[in-house]
Amino acid sequence: MAVEPLIYELGRPGRRAIRFPAPEVPETDLPEELMRDELAWPEVSEIDVIRHFTRLSQKNAAIDLNMYPLGSCTMKYNPKINEAVARYPGFARLHPYQPEETVQGALELMYELQEMLGEISGFNAVTLQPAAGAHGELTGCLIIHAYHRERGDEMRTKMLIPDSAHGTNPATARMAGFSVITVPSDERGNCDIDKVRELVGPDTAGIMITNPNTLGLWDEHIHEVIDVVHEAGGLVYNDGANFNAILGIARPGDLGVDIMHYNLHKTFSTPHGGGGPGSGPVGVRADLIEYLPGPHIRKEGEGADAVYSWYQPEKSIGRLHSFNGNFGMHVRAYTYIRMHGAEGLRQISEDAVLNANYLMALLADRFDLQYDRTCMHEFVLNGMRQKKQGVRTVDMAKRMLDFGVHPPTTYFPLIVSEALMIEPTETESKESVDYFANVMLRIADEAENTPEVVTSAPHTTEYKRLDEVGANRTLNLRWDAERAPAEAVAAD
Ligand SMILES: *Cc1c(COP(=O)(O)O)cnc(C)c1O
Repeated sequence: MAVEPLIYELGRPGRRAIRFPAPEVPETDLPEELMRDELAWPEVSEIDVIRHFTRLSQKNAAIDLNMYPLGSCTMKYNPKINEAVARYPGFARLHPYQPEETVQGALELMYELQEMLGEISGFNAVTLQPAAGAHGELTGCLIIHAYHRERGDEMRTKMLIPDSAHGTNPATARMAGFSVITVPSDERGNCDIDKVRELVGPDTAGIMITNPNTLGLWDEHIHEVIDVVHEAGGLVYNDGANFNAILGIARPGDLGVDIMHYNLHKTFSTPHGGGGPGSGPVGVRADLIEYLPGPHIRKEGEGADAVYSWYQPEKSIGRLHSFNGNFGMHVRAYTYIRMHGAEGLRQISEDAVLNANYLMALLADRFDLQYDRTCMHEFVLNGMRQKKQGVRTVDMAKRMLDFGVHPPTTYFPLIVSEALMIEPTETESKESVDYFANVMLRIADEAENTPEVVTSAPHTTEYKRLDEVGANRTLNLRWDAERAPAEAVAAD
C-alpha cells in the first residue's frame, strides 16, 4: 500500500515557503533558554505545502463532497454565506479584552441569537458559553445541582437517563456528581413510562431525555414523563441534539422541559467534526436564569438607544468557557437563522423528516427496521438479516466507502444489535437520497450473493481496512526523525 509521505519527508535542506524581508530594526539574540536546535523542521516550498495538504484533504470524506448520513450528528451542508459573514473583519478581528463600548455590534448579535434560540424552543433565556453539546449537558446538570442545593434539597442525587441516550448524558451527569439510573425503553422505542414512575422519588434530581430520541422516534409519553418527574420534584433536561426534526413545529419549553442544549454545529449548520470548534448553547425556563454561567449579556434601552453589557447572574454556576464561547459559531448560526426566517426553519424540519421517511421506505424491504413507526429526522435499522448472511454492519459501512458515501452511524444506539442509524438531513436532494438508497440496496444484494465482496471492503479507497483497535490503542501522532517512513503511520 502506498503510504502518504509526511510533510517532513518532503523537505529538502534550504527550501522555503516564505522569505522575510531584511529587518528594518537592529537584530538582537533571543534569550538562550528559548533557543532549541534539536527540532527538525520540514524545509518545504509553498507548492509542496499546498499540494501535500490538498492531496490529504481529497482522501477524506467531507460534506462538501458527498452525502454524510451520520445519524444523530445532523451532518447537513454548511452554507458558505455563514463563512463569509464570520470572516467580516468587524467580527473576525475583535479581541475579547476590548471594552464593551467598542464591541456593541458583536454583543447585539450574541444577544439576538440568544433571543432567537429562546423563541424557537420556548425558553426564557439562553447562554452561548458552552462549546459543545456535551458541554451544554454539563452546564445543565450543574444548574440542576445548584437549583436543588439552593432549596436545601441535598438528597436529590439521582439522574434518570433512558438506555437509548447518547453516552455523553451519563458521562456529564456523573461529572456533575449525580449517580445515573438507567431507564429501559419500551417495545415501541419510547422511554418506559411505567419504569419512570417506579424509579422517581425524593432522591430524583431530574431526567435527561432526548426527544426525538436517538432511535429517531418522538416519545409517545413525553408529556407523562415530564409530569411524573416534575411531580417527584425533579427537573427535566432535554438533550436537544435532535432539534433538527422539530424546528418551528414543537417547542420543548412549551412541553414543560426546564433546560435544553442546542448543538449549533448540528441543527444550525456551523461546521462539525474534526475536533470543533462547536457550540452548545443552553436554554432555561424563567426561574433558572439566575443560575446561568456568567458573564451573561444584558440589554438596556431599545432601538438606537440599546446598550449591551456583561453581568454576572446572581446565583451563577460560574464560567464554563474562556471569554464568551466560540463567537465564530455564534455568527454562523445567527446568519443561518436569519437567512431562513421562521418559515424557512419549519421547512428545514419538514424536509428533514420527509427525507428520512422516504429513505426508510426505500430500504424497508431489504433491511430490518428496528421499530416500524413513522420516523422523525432519522431511523435505525438493525443488520441482523445481513449478519445471518455472514456480513456485519461494520462490513456494510466499509463497503459504502467504495461508492463515495460516508457510512451512517453504526453500533449506536447501544440497545440495537448491529445498528445502522441513518440521517439524510434536509440538504440532500431526492437524487442523492436515491443514490444512497441504491448503494444500500446493492450492498444488500451483495450480502446475499457475494458476501466476500462486502466483508473484504473497502476496495477502491486509498487505504484499505485499518486496524482500528490498534490505531486507537497505540495511536502515535509524533514524528520521529530517526524512524523509517513506513513506520510513521500507526496502522495499515
Ligand atoms: C451529538 C450528540 C451529543 C453530544 O454533542 P457534542 O456537540 O458532540 O458534544 C449529545 N447527545 C446526542 C443525542 C447527540 O447526537
